[in-house]
Amino acid sequence: MTWVSDFESGSKAQKDLLGGKGANLAEMTRLGLPVPPGFTISTRACQAYLAQGGDPDGLAAEVDDHLGALERKMGRGLGDADDPLLVSVRSGAKFSMPGMMETVLNVGLNDASVRGLARRSEDPRFAYDSYRRLVQMFGSTVMGVDSDLFAEALDDLKERRGTQADLDLDVDDLRELVATFQRIIRDETGEEFPQAPREQLDRAVRAVFDSWNTDRAVLYRRQERIPEDLGTAVNVQAMVFGNFGMTSGSGVAFTRDPATGDQGVYGDYLQNAQGEDVVAGIRNTVSLEDFAQVDPASHAELLEIMSTLERHYRDMCDIEFTVELGKLWMLQTRVGKRTPEAAFRIAVHMADEGLIDMDEAVRRVTGSQLASLMFPRFDAEADRTLLATGMAASPGAAVGRAVFDWRTAVEWAERGEDVILVRKETSPEDLHGMVVARGILTSRGGKTSHAAVVARGMGRTCVCGAEALDVDTKHGQFVVRGGTTVREGDVISIDGSTGEVFAGAVPVTPSAVVRYFEGEEVDDPLVEAAARIVEHADRNRRLDVRTNADTGEDAARARRFGAQGIGLCRTEHMFLGERRQLVEDLIVADDEAGRAAALEALLPAQRGDFEEILEAMDGLPVTIRLIDPPLHEFLPDITELSVNLALADTKGHRKKRERKLLEAVQRLHEQNPMLGLRGVRLGIAIPGLFEMQARAILEAAAARVRAGGDPRPEIMVPLVGSVRELDLVRRRIEQVAADVQAELGREVDFKVGTMIELPRAALTADEIARSAEFFSFGTNDLTQMTWGFSRDDVEAAFFSTYIEQGVFSVSPFESLDVEGVGQLVRTAVERGRAANPDLHLGVCGEHGGDPHSIHFFDEVGLDYVSCSPFRVPVARLEAARAHL
Ligand code: PEP
Ligand code: MG
Repeated sequence: MTWVSDFESGSKAQKDLLGGKGANLAEMTRLGLPVPPGFTISTRACQAYLAQGGDPDGLAAEVDDHLGALERKMGRGLGDADDPLLVSVRSGAKFSMPGMMETVLNVGLNDASVRGLARRSEDPRFAYDSYRRLVQMFGSTVMGVDSDLFAEALDDLKERRGTQADLDLDVDDLRELVATFQRIIRDETGEEFPQAPREQLDRAVRAVFDSWNTDRAVLYRRQERIPEDLGTAVNVQAMVFGNFGMTSGSGVAFTRDPATGDQGVYGDYLQNAQGEDVVAGIRNTVSLEDFAQVDPASHAELLEIMSTLERHYRDMCDIEFTVELGKLWMLQTRVGKRTPEAAFRIAVHMADEGLIDMDEAVRRVTGSQLASLMFPRFDAEADRTLLATGMAASPGAAVGRAVFDWRTAVEWAERGEDVILVRKETSPEDLHGMVVARGILTSRGGKTSHAAVVARGMGRTCVCGAEALDVDTKHGQFVVRGGTTVREGDVISIDGSTGEVFAGAVPVTPSAVVRYFEGEEVDDPLVEAAARIVEHADRNRRLDVRTNADTGEDAARARRFGAQGIGLCRTEHMFLGERRQLVEDLIVADDEAGRAAALEALLPAQRGDFEEILEAMDGLPVTIRLIDPPLHEFLPDITELSVNLALADTKGHRKKRERKLLEAVQRLHEQNPMLGLRGVRLGIAIPGLFEMQARAILEAAAARVRAGGDPRPEIMVPLVGSVRELDLVRRRIEQVAADVQAELGREVDFKVGTMIELPRAALTADEIARSAEFFSFGTNDLTQMTWGFSRDDVEAAFFSTYIEQGVFSVSPFESLDVEGVGQLVRTAVERGRAANPDLHLGVCGEHGGDPHSIHFFDEVGLDYVSCSPFRVPVARLEAARAHL
């Protein structure tokens, strides 16, 4: 087993083994770009280390060999007293986890080699600054000392020197700081800061391995659905110094704007600083244009390299670079994270530039990105009070109460408040708060700061670097330059597309993308990009996309959004409101005549509903489901009714109807209504109910034909578990159809099918398919019935604990449990089609609009997915992504 490889021998294809950072360092090395030499300890070594709780056999010897080779290449020994080689030790997993794991820089410095390094530079200040950074980073990440203790000691020293800037500290100050930091380590751990360079290296490597399992890394992986067992690689690389004085510096750059997708390079640069300073947003950076003024040669070389990288990767890249004494070095590149808006615009720009084709453009964006572009934005006309403008780091319009620490954010969000997390700058600890917040606002740091990168990854609205805000997290408030104070709990609004911060709640308006889907002409480059991608997706998908809609209005909107019919019209809402009285009459009727009268009264109302929907979807299939929920949902509450009756009794009032109602409520009361008298069982138990609905559907269709329309009704029977249930109902529907046709003297076309919502239905799908023209998977109930989870109760009760404990990474009601519930779907598809090759198959549970689930439905060969109107464009896109 080899555990270690040099940058020269890897490539970008080896992300599994070398992690993203290591694979890309290898790729840049192969491309001949200026990369400081080094080697990568593989993810396999990390997996072995974590599994056995220590270094795997042979790792130390391999590190010896590769370190020896590095020392020979550099002509220096690690930590040599006279002229030391120093290395950085950085994490790098297969999937980027920004700021989640550890990094230790300047490894190899000790009390002796710091003097050697000082002699190498004109300004010895730099050597001691590097040393204090090592002691600080090593102390907190490797030796577990609270990082605040170092930060406080640094602040304390600056206060004594009467300054706020690190750069004002001179060499003696830094020497003193090193001693203070070493003392802190001694006091906190009872151990000395290790002087042996190789010990520093080995312990730093282990700390990086261990950081795979920190709370924040685990949480991040769950959020991003990154598997737990991948482990991280560790990159050991010769240090180059951005803090060698004013002809040195560090920067982060993007080959295109990661926020808007605009063509043209974009980045931040900080003179006389190491990379961490840029990303942490501790000091405010300058733009690449300003960098061109400071160091034209390095700037020109950087642009050349960026263009090479973008052509090579055929995608937007982000880059970390350092300039050491006027010499440019590349420290990292990767395909860059971007906002949803940028993803769409970059994809079509690149297709237009010939870097990729449109199929690839469709693969480059996701349904969730499209969904976030459909969020509303702030109403441009509305009154607003601008407090400050920061950087537009991650778009969206967020309104919520200001909170100043992640714990409060989590607490308040749990009780249902919308919150905006306000920080000076965010650190990885803040992740918990960022996850639950509507938006994130910081007063420091650029578009490449931790807050910005993480927020973009999560699709969370973010404004960063709003310098006019003086954020005081200790007292839970910020003061805006000019006077206003915003305290914890005050409502603010932040616009992640403009960087603006407003007092109070600003009203929001629909997104331009939604307006386009609604049929409006919108002149906007983002809309154009989204339209082109979705149109290309439509030409390249196998799955049809229908919608779940219960009103003519929703149906019409969904059709504008591209729905190819209705996959589920739930008829139960048609029994609410004023019609509830009629349902009560039906339930309390004690003879045939009473029941018939109640049904007769319901019929015209139902027919009207169906006519509207069939008209909105003229020429397209409309699946109407016969009534499903338990009847007691339409009746008054048992306690309330009993109390009213008892009161009436004491007053001697006669309440005949209420008494009959109470009897009905008592008769129909169920301990487990979800497992009770609902769906097909109701249709069989209450004669005439399904027949009335079938008649309403067929009469509505006939009326549409008379009006010159092309209705395509499909009658769907819910909660079938046995083919005999379906047979019974089918016969009755056929009888109604014969009656209606005889009365009207014309044929009405329709189909009869069933939902597959019970495990028994899935397992006996072959029998059921002989009696059905179509199946529609009701994956909400199928999930409930397969797991035995009450869909109305369990999500609130314990799903967060289940997710925390890793039982599943996302609720199975949101994203299909492919291994369990999915197997029932697969079985039913196979058995159903084998018995009835013409069987038409779809899904109408919530999963029909979930990107991950759509890929599964494509794979098992369904004919369509059906989802809520707003998810229709998302499903169109994902159906193509699943297929391409
Ligand atoms: C389902 O169970 O997936 C379904 C679509 O029906 P409902 O959500 O109405 O129970
Ligand atoms: Mg159901």
